Amino acid sequence: MRIIILFGAPGVGKGTQGALIAEKYGYLHMSTGSILREEVARNTPLGAEIESYISKGHLVPDKMICNIVVEEINKLKGEKGIILDGFPRTLAQAEFLDIMLFEKGLKIDLMIDIQANRKTLIDRLVKRGTLSHRMDDTLETIEKRLQIYEDQTSPLIGYYRQTDRYNTISSEKGIEDTFEHIAELVDTIVE
Ligand code: AMP
Repeated sequence: MRIIILFGAPGVGKGTQGALIAEKYGYLHMSTGSILREEVARNTPLGAEIESYISKGHLVPDKMICNIVVEEINKLKGEKGIILDGFPRTLAQAEFLDIMLFEKGLKIDLMIDIQANRKTLIDRLVKRGTLSHRMDDTLETIEKRLQIYEDQTSPLIGYYRQTDRYNTISSEKGIEDTFEHIAELVDTIVE
């Protein structure tokens, strides 16, 4: 089973590209943000706690998200590959992922760091907020999420850059151009 990590700031296009990879290669798209939003929509006590973090633009605690990811990974049955979209987001999550994959005889096959400049990200997220009414796509929360990305998530680039699985792709030129470059990378790991 191939493991791809889609990494990058909010608004960089991880969700869109994850869905395209899933469609083309038959891999499972695992978006932690979507899993969390589904739990919120179920109106459970856990969902209410999750909502209090997401609505402020904060990350949910590492322990909570790691438990959720383990549960999702344990549900898998013979998938050709999985695309992790939005996980890991902290060093603790990255270390946890390495251990969990090692225990399962798996490894990260490809890490794709998608990049775009700050103005592009803000424009995209504001636009998405007006279309989808996502609770965290308001200007104030967007700024907070970008700051948290800088502080807590971007240091992971140093963690992964030491490996030969790390690749950078720009998403400035739009969805199709970005996917063309991503597909070239995925082609190199397809079994
Ligand atoms: P996303 O859909 O990936 O932009 O995620 C939306 C929100 O879900 C984030 O702003 C966080 O509040 C939460 N979230 C998603 N993935 C994680 C993660 N790996 N660690 C902590 N919080 C997360």
